[in-house]
Amino acid sequence: MHIVIGAGVIGASVAYHLARAGAPVTVIDAGRIGGGTSGSSFAWVNSHNKAPRAYHDLNVAGMRAHAALRECFGDAPWWHGGGTVEWESIAPEAYRAKVALLQSWRYTAEWLDHAALHALEPDINLGAVGDAPVAFFPDDGWVDPVVYSHALLTEAKRLGAQVFQHLAVTAIRRQGSRVTGVATADGATHDADVVVNATGRWADQSALPLDLRIPLAPSAGLMLFTPPLAHGVQRVIFSPRVHIRPDGAGRLLICRNDLEVTADAELDRCSPEVTGLLAAAREVLPLLRHVDAEALRVGVRAIPADQFPAVGPSPGTKGYYSVVTHSGVTLAPFLGEAVAEEILNNTVRPELASFRPQRFFS
Ligand SMILES: Cc1cc2nc3c(=O)[nH]c(=O)nc-3n(C[C@H](O)[C@H](O)[C@H](O)COP(=O)(O)OP(=O)(O)OC[C@H]3O[C@@H](n4cnc5c(N)ncnc54)[C@H](O)[C@@H]3O)c2cc1C
Repeated sequence: MHIVIGAGVIGASVAYHLARAGAPVTVIDAGRIGGGTSGSSFAWVNSHNKAPRAYHDLNVAGMRAHAALRECFGDAPWWHGGGTVEWESIAPEAYRAKVALLQSWRYTAEWLDHAALHALEPDINLGAVGDAPVAFFPDDGWVDPVVYSHALLTEAKRLGAQVFQHLAVTAIRRQGSRVTGVATADGATHDADVVVNATGRWADQSALPLDLRIPLAPSAGLMLFTPPLAHGVQRVIFSPRVHIRPDGAGRLLICRNDLEVTADAELDRCSPEVTGLLAAAREVLPLLRHVDAEALRVGVRAIPADQFPAVGPSPGTKGYYSVVTHSGVTLAPFLGEAVAEEILNNTVRPELASFRPQRFFS
């Protein structure tokens, strides 16, 4: 038996691939499917600012795995392609060099002049773009993470997996150096050959023994959601002061990945963080001038202490495997497949070599 703790994009992906390979799986989540960070994410699938090369390549593997998964499911209602249009506030030569480096790594990118940008995204105020070079990345997209998690867990259940929601894991059970299962809040115990920690931002919680926790450096991001609007935005708009994408039924999601707020901040529409973000969005999309945010959401990122994914066993312990990462929406389908393969076949995936949890314990 394999127990996966956590039913966000990561836990759902691991459970799906374990179940697909014929392994018995139980998924246990303290809340609802996708109710953690996965439910409060910008969810952009990309590999733009992902240095060093090994991390960039991991994200590209995530993008490819998204494409393979779509082929597998046929109907993939969680996926939205269309690419990204991007310009930055750095010097034009620096931005051109950055895109050229991505291209040299075989990341598809093309340059857009104002006419081409207008043809793709007619609602963008070209005055806000100014003289900045604009790049188009056609292979990027974004995901509805809760729809994704639900679809993968539904398929896992069809293949025999069990999924428990609103049931917290309260302890990891061990015999000597081997993890043997978990205890849950209802007083039950569950035996397992392998326990997978996919608890994201909670991967350092006290329910886990000290040597099985992943040290985290979480940060929180603010997202604004508009009411349904008559707009033509089709893709991710990544501009210097604001990032915008559609969020279904005419809504737009407005965010800025380097704008950090406190996780328990009680923000409202008058908070400077909110008004500042909305002002930046109005500059890029004038159609927002008379529109206020309908909802605000603060998401807490699942970031291991050195910013990079922590994927693999913990040193000195058998039967326990962690999968904790930022950029988890991009990485989830690849990590799900690679982790299931490592667990079931006892293999070592070279793509994961730089990202082992061991680095935190040596
Ligand atoms: C503002 C913001 C913007 C982001 N933008 C992007 C982006 O553009 N692109 C991208 O790829 N990524 C992005 N991310 C990151 C991405 O969303 C996360 O990496 C990903 O959602 C993490 O998924 P997860 O499954 O690991 O965690 P979660 O979705 O948090 O799932 C963990 C689950 O574990 C459960 N759990 C915790 N403890 C227990 C317990 N004791 N017992 C049982 N269950 C437990 C929780 O209930 C939760 O459901 C963003 C994140 C934020 C916050």
